[in-house]
Amino acid sequence: MTGVKTAMRSHVGRVRQVNEDRVWVDHPGGGLTAAVVADGMGGHKAGEVASELAVESLSRSLSAWRLPLAAPECEAKLREAVLNANAAVYETASGNENYANMGTTVVLALLGDSEGLIGHIGDSRAYRMRDGELLQLTEDHTLVNELAKSGQLSPEEAARHPRRNVLTRALGTDKEVEVDVRRIDWKPGDRLLLCSDGLSGLVEGDLIEGALRERDGDLEQIADRLIALALLAGGDDNVTVALIEYEAEATGGEGGTA
Ligand code: CA
Repeated sequence: MTGVKTAMRSHVGRVRQVNEDRVWVDHPGGGLTAAVVADGMGGHKAGEVASELAVESLSRSLSAWRLPLAAPECEAKLREAVLNANAAVYETASGNENYANMGTTVVLALLGDSEGLIGHIGDSRAYRMRDGELLQLTEDHTLVNELAKSGQLSPEEAARHPRRNVLTRALGTDKEVEVDVRRIDWKPGDRLLLCSDGLSGLVEGDLIEGALRERDGDLEQIADRLIALALLAGGDDNVTVALIEYEAEATGGEGGTA
């Protein structure tokens, strides 16, 4: 019997006064593991309100999840959960001028015993580590990524662009929003990382990969290492990580049943 381990960290960073990132990880039952990272934006406290509302709404939806992940209606149901979170943030923003135009990124994962679903809006990312290689599972909804995809910017120019934080999509800023949902396969030995751009925008992919490759380090140490790398890189943004590990099957040992 293999198990699942999780770890999460959120740090205000070295420059900001307020942490507008939020993170949630849990086991909703039925052998599932769920995680959400949200990175809020908006003036005076609004960013943290947006990310908090989004995580609250999504954690409620995911905690109540009862569909087996093999069911074909899962994608639509996950999309619906994100749209409910969008409505929660949008309605609060519309009803209070202090919160006008607030919004948040969101990236979420719902994992079972052989597959999973990833949903996102904005530039918070999901990565899967498998056999020593890191694969980015999400595509940033940013202006620079659009320009890079159309060949108007090189990947290097995009990574250093002064307006690289400008999002083309966010949760809660509009009544309608498009959610990207994808299905992934998920097997023993895999690790999944969800993070805000306070990690992925500051720390080179190679360093993130190196930290996740650590076979002996436990997940809590890897989470600490990722936060430390972001702080070392300047820490000029809030930084948040959620980690999930599908424990590798014991090799060559005696059977695990008594
Ligand atoms: Ca951020």
